[in-house]
Amino acid sequence: MDRCSRYLVTGGAGFIGSHLVDALLAGGKEVVVLDNLATGRMSNLARAQEHPQFRFVHGSVLDAFVVDELARECDVLVHLAAAVGVKLIVEQPLKSFITNIKGTETVLESAQRHSRRVLVASTSEIYGKNSSGPLTETSDRVLGSPSVIRWSYSTAKAVDEILTGLYHQERGLRSTIVRFFNTVGPRQSPAYGMVIPRFARQAVHGEPVTVHATGGQRRCFLHVADAVEALLLLLDHPGAEGGTFNIGSDEEITILELAERVIAQAGSASSVEHMAYDEAYGTGFEDMQRRVPDTTRLRTLTGWQPRFALSDVLADAVADARGETSRVQSAPLPGTREEALPTAPAHTVPDAVAGPCRP
Ligand code: UDP
Repeated sequence: MDRCSRYLVTGGAGFIGSHLVDALLAGGKEVVVLDNLATGRMSNLARAQEHPQFRFVHGSVLDAFVVDELARECDVLVHLAAAVGVKLIVEQPLKSFITNIKGTETVLESAQRHSRRVLVASTSEIYGKNSSGPLTETSDRVLGSPSVIRWSYSTAKAVDEILTGLYHQERGLRSTIVRFFNTVGPRQSPAYGMVIPRFARQAVHGEPVTVHATGGQRRCFLHVADAVEALLLLLDHPGAEGGTFNIGSDEEITILELAERVIAQAGSASSVEHMAYDEAYGTGFEDMQRRVPDTTRLRTLTGWQPRFALSDVLADAVADARGETSRVQSAPLPGTREEALPTAPAHTVPDAVAGPCRP
């Protein structure tokens, strides 16, 4: 891949997207973000906006004309725009379903038309209620009725994966699919259901920390800086084309233990309060008891390993909830005023993608 590639990041004002944008800019890339700001925020792009190689386009991935024009201009497409977050999905099921299927179809069509490399974001929700873990990329999907909103989201993302795979097989599209497991870090909004930013805010404000059901359900949380590093490695690896990769941590914790760890990290006097799923998400909600990724495929191909432990993730989440700077600050972006300022340790861009663009 040319070191001076121009990247289109759909959903680049979102949580993972904005961290990827910063990393690409730090690596000397040009970046165009397409985002409708439905859940993304311009404040996430505050650093990027100072950069001369950055451009923001306010628009939707459902707008085929805009997507096609940007696909023509850019060399690599990273499709992160989606309706995400369990709370948002159950509150806006139809809009979420349409955005997630039509948006991806639109991006894939344009990627194909202009022969662009494309990375499509999927999710561990794909595996549904399969709680056997660790889940490999070929593990079974275990779903309840399609009338349960959560499984319609899982199905929409599965359709995205199928479309991506078929474009690759039948039309030679240079595509990669990534399945994000629980990912956490600065800029993640607590508004759409994500557990750690919610717990961190509750603990910092001394409010009860609301654990759904017994809290015996288990998850693994990856720092967003590690997720971004995985994306950069995959984008830069020809062997990733045509593949599907889990991205996640394998450090497991129950949600109840998580609540206690967050409260301790915040030095808070908050109590734990249990809340029924029905109360949190409406009747008929279904959760999975355990979700653990097997990331052997990603590690074997790229050498990726997470650099941050759950303790780092929690320290960062509490700092973010207090409005403090992350301990895992992104590198200062070259060519901006910020470059002159001292910062915390940078998260790195692999050598293969680092380095300034030639004129
Ligand atoms: N959860 C919780 N309290 C909250 C938000 C979430 O106990 O305020 C639980 C949720 O029911 C789930 C787990 O934490 O069992 C992880 O939830 P999240 O929405 O972050 O991710 P996902 O369910 O997609 O793994």
